[in-house]
Parts: sequence; structure tokens; C-alpha cells
Amino acid sequence: MQLAGLQKFTLVEGLPQPACVVFSAGCNYQCPWCNHTNRLDSVKSKLSEKYFWQFLQQQQGKLKTCVVSGGEPTIQEDLPRFLQKIKKLGYRVRLDTNGSNPDLLASLIKDNLVDLVSLDIKSPKGKYGYLIGFAEESMHYLLEKINQSLMLLKNSRLNYEIKTTIGTFLTPQDVWQIVHWIRPAKKYVLVNFRSQGISQNSFQIFEPYSDEKLVSLKEKIAPFFDTCEIRESMFVPHNF
Ligand code: SF4
Repeated sequence: MQLAGLQKFTLVEGLPQPACVVFSAGCNYQCPWCNHTNRLDSVKSKLSEKYFWQFLQQQQGKLKTCVVSGGEPTIQEDLPRFLQKIKKLGYRVRLDTNGSNPDLLASLIKDNLVDLVSLDIKSPKGKYGYLIGFAEESMHYLLEKINQSLMLLKNSRLNYEIKTTIGTFLTPQDVWQIVHWIRPAKKYVLVNFRSQGISQNSFQIFEPYSDEKLVSLKEKIAPFFDTCEIRESMFVPHNF
């Protein structure tokens, strides 16, 4: 498994505390604001697996959960082996994914290798290409895959959440379109945008929503979900 980094301590919702976060290297999206170290052209390890396993062994009994984030973990073929080894050490696993690999996600769920899945839905369907750096005409296949992942989670007994990063690149109408796409669902999380470290100038004009605006939006959409909440972006380096 190609790894980009390790956050040694954090708190996560929905699973035993405390947790660590391991970031896989590389991603199949090209979000214009992304730190380039996460992109597909950089699928190479910056953290050795040996170091990671030593850390997890040392923390057994202290840390309870390991979050596997990215980048995009599901682009790496040995993800199942990696998760199996984390589980064998006694950790609960949260997987963060962009939903582009529903087949792998299905097999991870079937083999009980994940305890919670956090699925990123980045925008309404009509704006997806713009937000992840692809031509809209090429989005049909990928949107099918994302939708399959969404339906897989919704039809499973697994603990899951759907999350969207909210900034001024999404209008409240865009968020309503997402809500109509994904509802009903167990849990929808709005993560306020952090503009630090944005790599492309054209996206530096975007800002987070004000607290008031975000709270007001959350209150309006909350009835469509069992739970709806606002969360600060916790993890570095993947702020989406
Ligand atoms: S922001 Fe996340 S999904 Fe987008 S390219 Fe970067 S790592 Fe991938």
C-alpha cells in the first residue's frame, strides 16, 4: 500500500475513540484545489508501511480506531490486505472514499473489513466534472459508479455517512440538488471548506460559508436525514 502520511491522534464520530488517520497516496480525481501530493501522478509512498505497522502495534489498546483516508484508498489493489491487517490488530476501521470503486467497496463490506464508510459526494451531478477537474461530458460513467456506491451503503446494514464540503463554489441550490439525490439517508455531514493550501488560483476566490448561513442550511435540510450535522474539517492533508 502506498501511503502519504499519518495523523497519530484524532477523535472520530460513530466509532470507539481515540483514532489515528492513515492517508493513502494518490487519487483518481483532479480537484483543482487539491494539494498536488494527493493526485494520481503521485502514487508513491512517503510513509513506509513498516513504520505504520510498528506504530499501530505500539498503540494497541490505546488507540481504538484507524481511519483510512486519502487521496483515494480504493484505487490501490492491496487495500483489502491492508484493512485485514489493521482489523487483525484489533482496530475498528473507518474508510473515507470518493465512491468511484463500488465493486471493491462491496467486497470490503462483504468481508467485514470496514466498520464505517464515509462517502464524499462533492456536488450535484451537473457540476461534478467542474469540481473534480474532469470534462462534464466524461462524467456519465463515473457518476454511475458513485451512485452505485451510494446505493450500496444505503442498502447495507453498515454504519455510514455521506459528506459534502461546503464552500461558495456550491450554492444553496446546489446543496438542495445533492439532498434530493441522496435522500433519505442515515447521516449527512456538511464540512465547512478550508481555503488554506489551495493549489489553483481560480479556486482561491472561494470561501467557506459563514456559520450562520451553514447552520440555517443545515436546519432546512435536516428533516431529509436521520442525522444531519456540521463538522469542522479535522484531517490534514486531505481537507476534502
Ligand atoms: S481533493 Fe481529495 S478527491 Fe480531490 S483530488 Fe484531492 S485527494 Fe482526490
